[in-house]
Order: sequence, then C-alpha cells, then structure tokens
Amino acid sequence: MSKNLLKSKNIRETAFRLKVLEILLAEKKPLTVEEIEKQLGKFDRITLYRTIKTFEDKGVIHEIVIAGQPKRIALCTSTCSEGEHHHHLEHIHFFCESCNETYCIEEVEIPKINIPNHEINSFDFQMKGVCEVCLNK
Ligand SMILES: [Zn+2]
Ligand SMILES: [Zn+2]
Ligand SMILES: [Zn+2]
Repeated sequence: MSKNLLKSKNIRETAFRLKVLEILLAEKKPLTVEEIEKQLGKFDRITLYRTIKTFEDKGVIHEIVIAGQPKRIALCTSTCSEGEHHHHLEHIHFFCESCNETYCIEEVEIPKINIPNHEINSFDFQMKGVCEVCLNK
C-alpha cells in the first residue's frame, strides 16, 4: 500500500521514505515529529525533515499546528496532490484536552464561509474538547 501511495504521488521510493510512511499508516492518527523519530530508531534528522517536506509538497501529508502543542503530521486523503491540499476547506482538526491526541475529522460538513472582498485560499478549522475514546472511558 505504501509503495503504491508513493508511486501515485510521483515520489521516488527510498527505504527511508517507505519507513516514515509506514509509521504514519500504521498509527492511523496524526503524529508529532518526536513520535515519528522514536519509531525510526537510528536515523538522520536532515533526511527526516526533507522527507516530511517532500511528503507535504506532494500532497501525502499535512501539518497540524495547534497553539501550545508540538506540530503534528497527518496523512492526507487521496484527493490531495502536488501543491494542492483540498481538505483544508473541508476538514476539522480536533484536539482532545483529555488525552492530548489530535484527530482529522472528515465526516462533518463545514458551512461555507465567505468574506466580502477577500479571496480565501485555506483556513484552519480547529476545535478543542474531549474525543470519542475519552468520552467512552
Ligand atoms: Zn492534504
Ligand atoms: Zn481523548
Ligand atoms: Zn488533518
């Protein structure tokens, strides 16, 4: 699966890129760079940052920045492509204040927001609260 994903996004396959992608696919949730580093074991930090940058440029991942939180990396949906992240207009980032996890929420409809005389290219829709897992504890 990860090999096909790299191919479909026109990213040259390297063992390292595959490894990073596999970590993200396995966890099924946005990860901090530190969490990725922990799973990589031995690695070169520059290579990791370049890989993250390449993945972001090619529409494989997007960054989630929530105030007071370390930056997180989340997988994109298949509709994202090079230079074009589509979900920024249609998905919410939910931060759970109980378990400190961040979730990409795709299943909700976000009302279209227009600002007169302005062109909107992207917007960050963030919410904080308690996630499903914590609510059911
Ligand atoms: Zn994206
Ligand atoms: Zn939670
Ligand atoms: Zn997201």
